Amino acid sequence: MSVFNSTPVASDTCVTSATSTNIVSPTPGYTGRFAPSPTGPLHLGSLVAAMASYLDARAHQGRWLLRIEDLDFDRNVADADRHILNSLQRCGMHWDGDVSWQSQRQPLYEQALKQLAAQVYPCACSRKEIADSRLRAGSTASQIYPGTCRTGLAPGKAPRAWRLRVPDGKAAVFQFEDRLLGAQTQDLASEVGDFVLKRADGFWAYQLAVVVDDAEQGISHVVRGADLLDSTARQCYLQQLLGLPRPAYLHVPVVTNADGEKLSKQTGALAFDRGDNDVLQEALLPAARFLGLQMSPAVRDLHIFWESATAAWAQYLARQPAQQPIQQPHLSLK
Ligand SMILES: [Zn+2]
Repeated sequence: MSVFNSTPVASDTCVTSATSTNIVSPTPGYTGRFAPSPTGPLHLGSLVAAMASYLDARAHQGRWLLRIEDLDFDRNVADADRHILNSLQRCGMHWDGDVSWQSQRQPLYEQALKQLAAQVYPCACSRKEIADSRLRAGSTASQIYPGTCRTGLAPGKAPRAWRLRVPDGKAAVFQFEDRLLGAQTQDLASEVGDFVLKRADGFWAYQLAVVVDDAEQGISHVVRGADLLDSTARQCYLQQLLGLPRPAYLHVPVVTNADGEKLSKQTGALAFDRGDNDVLQEALLPAARFLGLQMSPAVRDLHIFWESATAAWAQYLARQPAQQPIQQPHLSLK
């Protein structure tokens, strides 16, 4: 995450007071979540994120919700949500309450967009136009929107997407504390630019939906993969504009293959929602090892696995100096 400067900070108080071997400290109101996209079966990469959020909820004696992020209708794979739920159940990961689907929550996003009307504007740019105007400006920042439609659409142009105006100057600098990585800073104006809330294809953008859902579901602690670290400042800005609380954040390393690519179903991930494969040996123990948890390889029982993994997670957080650079171990796939 080259856009972030990681600065040493004092570690979060809630993770350093472990007196028991298997809990950090009971945290009233703790609500965590796992929020997979149904673009394929759960694989070892997504299992690592699921496991970290599940263990953190268990260690705090909190609730763990499951939310299916199915807003990108072009990428959804039929039945992938059912496969993911089956895999979690096979792994012994039981969620609290009902599963929620973002596709059923779109009126909430519409309402939030209305609330943001003063900061939102229509954008008529195609991807190619954005790329061309960056080239003309000699910009190498591939992610930053050049602000073409900020002051209104050019004559004859029709709105495609809806963008949120980011502040200028000091107000554009967002800081948040990552429980694992320490203090994070991002300047939304120079590093992100005005970002999309509703896409040209009519789909809701991830940033808006996730902020609305986390608040509406009372999520107090977000534990997810570090590929989303870069999104967090945008989410903090949306929380500020919408008057929503900011959850605590913790980002865990992302599993990559030998070429450094994030695992996906295209890069050799294993599915384990059915069949006779041994979820402990083939999925849970490798995922726990990837997270750096000290686990006995001899464990043969799911209940015992989760008891020991919860204790190992609490110990891991207690000894993890917040300033330690994120570890990126390689997880070998069979
Ligand atoms: Zn535009």
